[in-house]
Amino acid sequence: MRIVLLGPPGAGKGTQAVKLASDLGVPQISTGDLFRHNIDAGTPLGLQAKQYLDAGDLVPASLTNALVDDRLNDADVAKGFILDGFPRSVEQAEALNDMLKRRGLKLDAVLEFRVPEDELVDRLQGRGRADDTEDVIRNRMKVYRDETAPLLDFYQGELHTVDAVGTLDDVFARALQALDR
Ligand code: ADP
Repeated sequence: MRIVLLGPPGAGKGTQAVKLASDLGVPQISTGDLFRHNIDAGTPLGLQAKQYLDAGDLVPASLTNALVDDRLNDADVAKGFILDGFPRSVEQAEALNDMLKRRGLKLDAVLEFRVPEDELVDRLQGRGRADDTEDVIRNRMKVYRDETAPLLDFYQGELHTVDAVGTLDDVFARALQALDR
């Protein structure tokens, strides 16, 4: 299955992506994790991406789209994928459509994890990642509202909304149900 996960920072996409990937037997592709690995390894991509992650801004589309396009060439992706954190803008969604079309593929589903905003801030402040400071969190929320939320319309036809308030297992069960599994 080829699935895109959408949801604001702190919605628990990453955790659910790992669980879904292992349940469905497909790789999880997290652009945030890929950027962080590149930053930790000091690669040229990491050096270019770091300032954007530190500020909570989107890494430019040229870098991000190329990263995903490359990853889609790996053999393990033949079985499908869970895309976590990409696309994050209409521009990226259009680029993803092109990448899939070139490979003769299409998405099976888009899952939106929905959580009220005041709960999100509490969750993120409890997490303690480098980009989880108050100013950066606020900016990531704004970027979500401005850049990413329009994807809810873009994917209207294939969108399934999952209530992401509850235990990890509750949310996982709802996600599987949304996928008819
Ligand atoms: P979260 O969703 O909790 O904010 P992520 O790990 O998905 O965490 O993303 C962290 C940061 O990585 C983002 O704030 C952004 O700087 C960068 N990033 C991740 N995915 C993308 C993407 N698709 N396009 C641009 N930047 C991205």
